[in-house]
Amino acid sequence: MLIVMERDCSAEQIQRVIQKIEVMGFKAHPIPGEVRTAIGITGNAAPIDPAEFETLPGVEEAIPVTKPYKLVSREVKPYDSVIKVGPVSIGGPGFVVIAGPCAVESEAQTIQAAIAVKEAGAHMLRGGAFKPRTSPYSFQGMGLEGLRILAMARKETGLPVVTEAVDDESAGLVEEYADVIQIGARNMQNFQLLKRVGRSARPVFLKRGMSATLDELLMSAEYVLSEGNYNVVLCERGVRTFANHARNTLDLSVIPAVKKRSHLPIFVDPSHGTGIRDKVGPLARASLAVGADGLMLEVHPDPDKALSDGPQALLPQMFRELMSDLERMAPLVGRTMESPRKGDGSAARA
Ligand code: PEP
Ligand code: MN
Repeated sequence: MLIVMERDCSAEQIQRVIQKIEVMGFKAHPIPGEVRTAIGITGNAAPIDPAEFETLPGVEEAIPVTKPYKLVSREVKPYDSVIKVGPVSIGGPGFVVIAGPCAVESEAQTIQAAIAVKEAGAHMLRGGAFKPRTSPYSFQGMGLEGLRILAMARKETGLPVVTEAVDDESAGLVEEYADVIQIGARNMQNFQLLKRVGRSARPVFLKRGMSATLDELLMSAEYVLSEGNYNVVLCERGVRTFANHARNTLDLSVIPAVKKRSHLPIFVDPSHGTGIRDKVGPLARASLAVGADGLMLEVHPDPDKALSDGPQALLPQMFRELMSDLERMAPLVGRTMESPRKGDGSAARA
């Protein structure tokens, strides 16, 4: 149910609706709009009678939401969500590039990668400190030490940091050290973890599970929003198919489908999406063309020595060339490249 308030309603009238929702045992989600405020209701197992609200002063109408997901849906919020991470705006006209190594391997490797991506025009730094690996014998990430290195790289470059949390404990550490909490493909349906990051003040970067439908991805995002964290960025990173010419099949058709259903920004990760360095550039350019809000790209100063995902990592030179391609392409598809205000990134952690 969505309660749409009249344009000139008072703050008290909004408060009264919120109170009524809470007294009924449900959760109220006020959504301020350009013209009027709407209030989403979650937590109701059965439909609510619109008359309960339509008789309250200041209420324009009460609309039942037909989709299984509510807060992420355009029915509830018709205009695009723009998510601020320090100086960077995600989901606005500016196209945003997050780049860096698959994993934090050492201070030198991370700082070198961070400087290279920053100089090429990246807006944010990625790098895993907690790595969910298929084999327990593969490099599992540097953990807390990795987060400390990422914080150093942010200080050095001013780039806000995106890094993955894999459980409750790492979520606490990631929110302390980083700017955005990444939930990886393997955890897209870890509902406890989704609820945990839903209570965080940090934005969440939610990657699509490798066999997840669009509805499942949106329902996972709904878990985060329903806990009160409305700052979620979705990411397509390839799904499993019978095709064996690439690590995954990058499903770019999901981008316009997300745009139709949801107000949340959607990124593409063509690094995991293809698994092969020379396929990353073409699919990155295609992602911009198809309407994605940004890219997540793996870049390593020396991919042959990478402890994870070396074959898909771009060399710094390739990344520079790709960034200049994207800059030239952006105006052709009605975008600009995001140009963050100069800053030391500390605003991201305010
Ligand atoms: C990653 O981005 O570091 C990662 C592990 O990706 P995914 O969860 O998409 O496999
Ligand atoms: Mn990786």
